[in-house]
Amino acid sequence: MGEIPKIRKFGTKLTIYSIIVALIPVVILGVVSSHTITQTMNEQAQDKINTDLYAAEEFMGHNLDKLSSICEYTVNSPDLLENMKNKNIKNLKNILLLTKKSSDADFVTLFDNTGNVVLRSNNNNYGDKELSDHIKKVLNGSNVTATIILDENTVKKENLENKTIIYIFDKGDFVPLDMENKSIEYRGLALVSIKPIYDNNTGEIMGALMISKVLNKDTYIVDKIKATTKDTSTIFLGGLRISTNVQENHERAIGTFVSQNVYEQVIKKGEIYYGRAFVVDDWYLTAYKPIKDDNNNIIGMIYVGVPEKPFIALQDKIKHIILWVGLVAFLMALVVSVIINSTITRPIKKLKKGVEMMGKGDYNFRVNINSNDEFEELAHAFNKMADEIKSSQEKLKKQAEKLEISYNELKKLDKFKSEIISIVSHELRTPLTSIKGYVELVLDGTMGTINESQKRCLEIANENIDRLKRLIDNMLDLSKIERGELKMDISKVNLNDIVQNVVHSLKPLADGKNIKIINKVEPITANLDKDKITGVLTNLIENAIKFSPVNENVTIEAFKENNMVHITVKDNGPGIPKSELTKIFDIFYQVNSSAKRIKSGSGLGLAICKSIVESHGGKIWVESKFGKESTFHILLPLDK
Ligand code: ADP
Repeated sequence: MGEIPKIRKFGTKLTIYSIIVALIPVVILGVVSSHTITQTMNEQAQDKINTDLYAAEEFMGHNLDKLSSICEYTVNSPDLLENMKNKNIKNLKNILLLTKKSSDADFVTLFDNTGNVVLRSNNNNYGDKELSDHIKKVLNGSNVTATIILDENTVKKENLENKTIIYIFDKGDFVPLDMENKSIEYRGLALVSIKPIYDNNTGEIMGALMISKVLNKDTYIVDKIKATTKDTSTIFLGGLRISTNVQENHERAIGTFVSQNVYEQVIKKGEIYYGRAFVVDDWYLTAYKPIKDDNNNIIGMIYVGVPEKPFIALQDKIKHIILWVGLVAFLMALVVSVIINSTITRPIKKLKKGVEMMGKGDYNFRVNINSNDEFEELAHAFNKMADEIKSSQEKLKKQAEKLEISYNELKKLDKFKSEIISIVSHELRTPLTSIKGYVELVLDGTMGTINESQKRCLEIANENIDRLKRLIDNMLDLSKIERGELKMDISKVNLNDIVQNVVHSLKPLADGKNIKIINKVEPITANLDKDKITGVLTNLIENAIKFSPVNENVTIEAFKENNMVHITVKDNGPGIPKSELTKIFDIFYQVNSSAKRIKSGSGLGLAICKSIVESHGGKIWVESKFGKESTFHILLPLDK
C-alpha cells in the first residue's frame, strides 16, 4: 500500500473535525450574540432617542406651563384690575415689566376688550389694534397657551427684531418653497400664553394679557435639554434652524435648512422622522417631531440627536471580543486536537507497523502500547494473535515438513510401484507369449488330435491368456504414462480406416451378442499416433459392446468441428450415474464392483484413454442417460 496523502490521513481528518466541532458553537454563539447585542443596542438607541424627544417636549411644555401660570396669576391680580380700571399707565407698566421679568419672557402686552393695545413691556407704543386670531379667541373667553409664529409685524411692534432675526447664510441643497426669496427670517417662533382679564365686579372681559417667550436664537431651552440628556437638540421654524445646541466653528449652527426628506415627512406629512443623519461633523441617530400651534398647524419641529459613535464603538468592541474568543477557541481546539491526534494516531501507527510486519511474515514483532485504554487492549489482542499465528505457523511448518517427507516417500513408493509393474509385466509377457503359442499349437492340432472337450478347455485357457495379456499391456502403458515415458508416434492417418479396423477386430465380440455396429465416420485425415488412437477406440467400442444388452446397436460417428475431429461412441447399455461421469476416467475405477466381475474389466482402460487423448491435446468425456444409454466423446486436434 502506498503512502496515504497528508490530507487523507486519519490524524489530519481528526484535527479538522475537532476544530470544526470546536468552532461551530463559537460561530453560532458569535452570530447569535452579535445579532442580539446589535438588536438590543439599536433598541436602546431608539429608546434613548425617544426619551430625548420626550424630554425636549416636556421641557418646552414646562416653559409654556410656567408662562401660563404667571399669566394666570397676573390676570387675576387685583393690582392689575385696579390699575386697568383707573387707566394708571405708569403702574400698569411696572406690572408688565415685573411680569416679564418673573416669567423670563421676551415681551408682555396688555389689551383692552376691543383688542387695542393698552401697553407694551418693550416700548411705549400703544393704542394700535391687534386683532389677531389668538386675541379674538381670548376676548371671546378662551385661553391660548401654545407655540405660535409671531409675524414680522408683531415682531416689529414688540421691538423683537434683534431677538428673532436669523440670517440664512447657507441655503444648502434644499430650500423650502416659502423661503426661496428670503435671506433673512424675521418671524419668530414663540411660546405664548394669552388670557382674558375679567372685571372682578361685573365678571365681564376687560381685556387680555399676553406673555411670550421667543425661541429664535434662544439658548436656554436647548442648553437645558443638553444638560439633561447630554445630546444635541434643535428647534426649527418651519424647516429653518432657529435654536440649537449644536456648535459649528464655535458658533451655534442656526440659519440653515433641514434636509428635504425630513422636511417632507415632518413638516408636510406631520410624521415623526427617525434615522441616521450627518450633523455638522459626525453621524447621529436622530428624531424630528413636528411642533404644532393651537390650531394644530405644523409650524416647526424639534430635533434630538444621539451620537452614533458610542453605539458603533460598543458594537465594534463586542465584535472584536467575539473574534478574539473565536480565535482563542480555534487555537485551543488546534492544541487539543493535536494532543488527541497524537494520543490516537501514535498507537494506530504502532498497530499498523505490527500488521505490516506480520504481512511480511515477521511474527516476532510485538506492539508496545501503554496508554491504559482500548488501544492497549487492542495491542494485547494483536500480540496474542501474533503469538497464536506464530505457534500455528510453526506447527504448520512441522506438518508441512512431515507431509513433504511422506510425499517423498510416497513418490519413491509410486516410482517403485511403477518399476515393479513394469518389470513384472515384462517378465509376465514373455512366458505368456510362449504359453499362448503352445496353447494355440495344441489347439490347431499341430501337436496331435484333441477331442472336443479338450479343445473347449484350451479355448477358454486361450481367452484368459488374451485377457491377461491385455491387462499386462494396459499396466505397461500406464506405468509408462506415469513415468512420462509414453512416446508419441504422430503420422497422417485416415480415421475411417482406424475405425474400420477396430470394428473388424471386435466383430466376433459383437456378433457373439448379436450387436450391430453402425459406422458413421466421415473420411477424415488427421495427424495422430495411429496405434494409440486405435487402442483408445478399441477400448471405447469394446466397452460399448461389453455393456450393451444383446441385439442392440453401437453407433460410431466422427465429424469435423472447427479445427478438431469429434468422435462419439454411443451404446444403449445401462448408462452411467451422473455422480460417476468423471470418476470412471480414474485409474482402477469401476462404477460397480460386482459389474466389474460380470463384465470382466480392470478399470484401467478409460484412464489410459484419457492420458492418450490429452497427450494429443484433446479432450474426452461421457454423456449418459442412466439406465438407457452412454455416449463417449473425443475431441482431437486435426493437426497435432
Ligand atoms: P474396465 O476395464 O473395467 O472396463 P474401463 O476403464 O474401461 O475399465 O471402464 C471403467 C468403468 O466404466 C467400467 O467398469 C464401467 O463401470 C464403466 N463403463 C465404461 N464404459 C461403459 C459403458 N459403455 N457403459 C456403461 N458403463 C461403462
